[in-house]
Amino acid sequence: MKCSLCDEDSYFYSTYLKQWLCKKHFAKMIERRIRRNILNNKFKSKDGYEILKSTPAYKVLEKLFNEKGGIKLDSYILEDFALEVMKYFLNGENPVIKISKENYFNPLYNVSLEELEAYCKMKNIELNIQYNDKILDFLNSMEKRRPGSKISVVESGRILGII
Ligand SMILES: [Zn+2]
Repeated sequence: MKCSLCDEDSYFYSTYLKQWLCKKHFAKMIERRIRRNILNNKFKSKDGYEILKSTPAYKVLEKLFNEKGGIKLDSYILEDFALEVMKYFLNGENPVIKISKENYFNPLYNVSLEELEAYCKMKNIELNIQYNDKILDFLNSMEKRRPGSKISVVESGRILGII
């Protein structure tokens, strides 16, 4: 398949955009989403961008801990938050991680493991995240039938204010 945006061969199918993307456009999509997350998360744009430049997107998972600007970035991803919300719905367990607090933020909260793996592979960034969780297996099968399910679960948790 060709990239939906240019003539290059595609590298990744984005269920988020419903498009085939080449490496360049895939990286742009991920980086833009992370940048938007940071900018939208009440951080003033300039600071937010400086924080981004000094940490994630470019080196996505180099732990993402950075105290610059007084904001601590963390590296929980879509699956972590989807799991927390599902456990809340199923078992009434209160989530232990938050997307953001006053001086704390997870810029990858809506980036899936599949996206992150593809991104890191492309950038030669070592990534080793593994899950062994029945609820996540369920979420993944839901995602296959209805792309975007995990994002919807996370969004509902966000609206409820539990994550
Ligand atoms: Zn392209």
